[in-house]
This record gives sequence, C-alpha cells and structure tokens, in this order.
Amino acid sequence: MSQKNSNKKIVAFIGLGNMGGGMAPNLVRAGFQVHAFDLSAPALALAESQGCSPYSSAKEAVQGADFIISMLPNGDIVEAVYIDGPEALLNSISPSALIIDCSTVASASSIRLAKSALEKGIKAIDAPVSGGVAAAAAGTLAFMCGGEKGAYQSALPVLNAMGKNIFLAGAAGAGQIAKICNNMLLAVHMTGTAEALQLGVDNGLDPKTLSDIMIKSSGCNWTVEKYNPYPGVMEGVPASNNYEGGFMVDLMLKDLGLAQQAALASQSATPMGAAARNLFNLHKHSGGENKGGKDFSSILDLYRRD
Ligand code: NAD
Repeated sequence: MSQKNSNKKIVAFIGLGNMGGGMAPNLVRAGFQVHAFDLSAPALALAESQGCSPYSSAKEAVQGADFIISMLPNGDIVEAVYIDGPEALLNSISPSALIIDCSTVASASSIRLAKSALEKGIKAIDAPVSGGVAAAAAGTLAFMCGGEKGAYQSALPVLNAMGKNIFLAGAAGAGQIAKICNNMLLAVHMTGTAEALQLGVDNGLDPKTLSDIMIKSSGCNWTVEKYNPYPGVMEGVPASNNYEGGFMVDLMLKDLGLAQQAALASQSATPMGAAARNLFNLHKHSGGENKGGKDFSSILDLYRRD
C-alpha cells in the first residue's frame, strides 16, 4: 500500500491483464499515482515492477482515488465488481471520484453501471478501446466514450495519458455501441477481403499483385491495405507470423456476439454481421484445432484449399 503523494491524482486500476497491464504504466509515466488490483498475483507483480502500487483488494485500491479505471474481461465481472459482488465497489468509492470502465461489455451493462453509480452520487462513463495490446503499451489507443459531457471532460487527462484518439459517442452505453459497430464492420471487411484474395489466387493471381490493385481501386479497405490476411503479402502483420499476436479470433467473436445482442435489442437487420459471426465461429473450430487464440486475419484459412 502506498502513501498518498499530495501532488498526484490517484487512479485505482482494476484489471491488469493483456490490456490493463500495458495501460496502467502509461498513467505512472504521466505522473498519476496508480493503485493497482488484479486477482492474478503475477499480473499485479508485473504492474508493481512498472511503478504501480499493488493492493490486496479492489476495495482497498479505490480508497481515496480520484479516478477508478477497470479493464475487465466481460460485463458479468464488471457488474459484480461494482454492483452485485460481495465487495460491490459502489459502496466504497467517493462521490467525488469518476469511474471509467474501459472493458468491452454490452451497452446495457454500461447503462446499468452509470445509473447505479448515479444513485450513489458517483459519475461513471464507458470508455471501451480500439487498438490491441501493442497500442495499450504504446499509449496509442482510441477511446470511444459514453456518458455525460462533464464527466467525459473530467476523464480526458487520464485518457490522454493512455490514448491518441478520444471520442464522446453519446450518453451512457454509447461508447460500447460505437465499439461494436466498428468491430462488426472490421470483421465484415476482413472476411470479405480474405474471400476476394483467395478467389484471385484460385484463379491464378499473385496475392500481392491483387492486393496492390485493390489498394488503388474501389475495393480498398483497412484490412487489405494495413493488415493484409494473406501470408507473405505484407511484413509486420500477423499473417506473416503464423497469425500469432494481433487481435484474437475469440475476442472478435465476443464483439460480434455483442453486436448481435444489440441488433436484437434494437430490431436492426445486420445480415453481414451475423454472417461474419458465423464465419468466425466456423473458422475457430475448423481444421481439427481450436483457432480462438489466432489473430482474426487467420479467417483466410477457411477459404484456402492447400
Ligand atoms: P485479460 O483476460 O488479459 O485481462 C483481464 C484481467 O482482469 C486479468 O488479469 C484478470 O485476472 C483480471 N480480473 C478478472 N476478474 C477480476 C476481478 N474480479 N477483479 C480484478 N481483476 C480481475 O483481458 P484483456 O485482453 O486485457 O481484455 C480486457 C478487456 O479489453 C476485455 O473487455 C476485452 O474485450 C477488451 N479489449 C481487448 C483487446 C485485446 O486485444 N486484448 C482489444 C480491445 C479491447
């Protein structure tokens, strides 16, 4: 447990996994005092080695904090940590503190958290991120926020220390909606790009030549230009590293599931998003191995014949 350094704002950081473990040290570098908690002892030890102060419970970590950031696996855990669990943090957080939940969860979870917090006089925003583990460590994440404008503005000094592009999408839950819309489109682009590249290869084209043509033509999109799924076309992307690193199929499936939940709730037609979710699910279980841990550009394997 650390002593309060009166010159520094205190950020309690809950969840120091692949993402949080990269984000929290950027807050230390920016001059915040970071009170860290994670259920995993190795994650907490790593954060300590990077300047965070480890705490033995989330309840202790939030004492005296000006900001509470959470970066947790899913909405059930977020709701348990703040509202429903035995140590429901809303009972311990000061009304002057601001909750910034960066986890990717259903917008309904974010709305419930914001309402439950407000009942205790505490402000909360949702701030899910775009950009993976490398962007978390480099401090170049994009944050898509949902919540009241004043709370969003109060969060900016903290978010600026961890990210490069920060947006207010709308009211509570809007950040989550922006995130799943973006990732649903990304998945559609990736499956479409893989399908088109393989069609070209099956008809005798070189994948690099075809990519160069598409990049300068109307089929250009981020996945063909910056994150090409065909092995050997581009250096420094997961496709040229046996689909290791990057953004896992399991995480894309999680986001596509959240997109389908949102579509059901709003009765929106999302046939491409539904197809993408099914394709990534088929891909995950194809070829006799679980591909959930591979980068999502490995969807190309579903189309290859060799
Ligand atoms: P992760 O599983 O690596 O990390 C989650 C951490 O939370 C773990 O260290 C775990 O021990 C901890 N945790 C779980 N329950 C806890 C509790 N009750 N109290 C304290 N700590 C607890 O996950 P991640 O990859 O860091 O992802 C975190 C969030 O970010 C997810 O919502 C994910 O969808 C989102 N996200 C991830 C990526 C990515 O590329 N990994 C990209 C964008 C968004």
